[in-house]
Amino acid sequence: MAPALFGETIFGPIKSRRLGISLGVNLLPVNGKVCSFDCIYCECGYNADHRGGKLPSREDVSQALEKRLIELQEEGVTPDVFTFAGNGEPTMHPEFPAIMEDTFKLRDRYFPNAKISVLSNSTRIHKQEVFDTLNRVDNNILKLDSVFPETVELIDKPNAESFDINRVIKDLARFDGNVIVQTMFLRGVHNGKKVDNTTDEEVDGLLNAYLKIAPKQVMIYSLDRPTPEKNLQKVSKEELEAIAEKFRKAGLNVSVA
Ligand code: SF4
Repeated sequence: MAPALFGETIFGPIKSRRLGISLGVNLLPVNGKVCSFDCIYCECGYNADHRGGKLPSREDVSQALEKRLIELQEEGVTPDVFTFAGNGEPTMHPEFPAIMEDTFKLRDRYFPNAKISVLSNSTRIHKQEVFDTLNRVDNNILKLDSVFPETVELIDKPNAESFDINRVIKDLARFDGNVIVQTMFLRGVHNGKKVDNTTDEEVDGLLNAYLKIAPKQVMIYSLDRPTPEKNLQKVSKEELEAIAEKFRKAGLNVSVA
């Protein structure tokens, strides 16, 4: 199976390992990928393989979401969470703050107990309006795969040369704990270079960063779906648990997916 795009703006609900009954919202094109990273493990594939496509407008998203929420009410299905993920980085949508505003209203009208989760790669949290919006969602899930620039370059491949992982860590700490940090652990080879963010150096670096950020939770996981780089290996549940234990001993709340 090859990596695949989400073909709709609103998808599911699907039963998620981490989030429960989750209604997906894709703010990116349905036939293209838009992301400020180009992760070697991205389940959508590489950016270059999915150029193009049109972003849905704020109105498109709001109308499609409301339509689906009415259908779910009629079907008697109650989502636990609305999850903003999809074909790229949701905060890259220029109307992200306004779309989230609409979403809060729709959630309150149709499923007031549902949580709102946003999965973001942290590349735009330096923008105040993105920061303020993420700070209002129930599950503000932000990516941090390594504290070392060369590892981030290898695994996440930021598009911008100005990307600075130390700045991201400082910005993550600005949430004052209202953040869930998500880290993908993996091993393999990419472009002839060894990839491994499970070494003691990597894990200790992450631990120090988490302690500075003081998130309400750290979510760690490994590969689950086909990846564009084929030479990658999943880190076993036992190893993830051992890494989690190290973090827990330092006082962190850690979940292993
Ligand atoms: S940040 Fe997410 S969407 Fe973007 S390339 Fe990485 S895994 Fe894919």
